[in-house]
Amino acid sequence: MHSPVGSYEPLGDAGSAAVSRYLVFIVEDEEDIARLISHNLQAAGFEVRSFVSGGSVVSEALREMPSLFLLDVMLPGADGFDICRQIRQTPALSSTPIIFLTAKTAEADRVKGLELGGDDYITKPFSPRELVARVRSVLRGLRQAPVMPEALRLGDLEIDASSMTVKAQGRAVLTTVREFRLLEYLAIHRGRVLTRDQLLDAVWKETPFVTPRSIDVYVRRLREKIEIDPRHPRYLKTLRGIGYRFEVPK
Ligand code: CA
Repeated sequence: MHSPVGSYEPLGDAGSAAVSRYLVFIVEDEEDIARLISHNLQAAGFEVRSFVSGGSVVSEALREMPSLFLLDVMLPGADGFDICRQIRQTPALSSTPIIFLTAKTAEADRVKGLELGGDDYITKPFSPRELVARVRSVLRGLRQAPVMPEALRLGDLEIDASSMTVKAQGRAVLTTVREFRLLEYLAIHRGRVLTRDQLLDAVWKETPFVTPRSIDVYVRRLREKIEIDPRHPRYLKTLRGIGYRFEVPK
């Protein structure tokens, strides 16, 4: 059994053997689409397990520890957002990447998916090649931590890249991979003003769907997790019309 975050082999673009250890859980009620996704991911070297509803996804995930979830939003019973919430509330799965798959194109749904802890969002119809590329991109994000010799301690915040963990005021904070990457990037460049575009470039390089608005969503989520009073942040400062700056409180 492998951990959802950590010791992966490099993700080769050519060889499928390099990705054979990655298990992807697919939750999709439309059989044709589920088959199309499974087929393409398997051809790219991934292991897959398909579910037509969310019922047993979390319990099975705890047994098999998938590397990534692909969640359709519109499902009978619990929808993709509900399943995402369950996954994020399960400590062992809280940082496993989630990609939403849906016919909905409304900005509100994208934002909702991100707010709930999604890492990416693919709208139907999609090309199977694009889907495989997105899955690879999200998984690649897992192992792109800049190497820091030891945990970064700033004020009452502790950011540990080796274990991808965050502590605020002495308590452990659960973050998604992208949240962690964003916080880490801001903290490494503390004191510097970073525009939304710079942050997009740094943290979401290969994810074309993410808009500057998404950065705001992530920052809001991070504030709720690390700030004592998210409305009066001490660490994550907004520079109106420009971007964000990480400050170390005195
Ligand atoms: Ca569906």
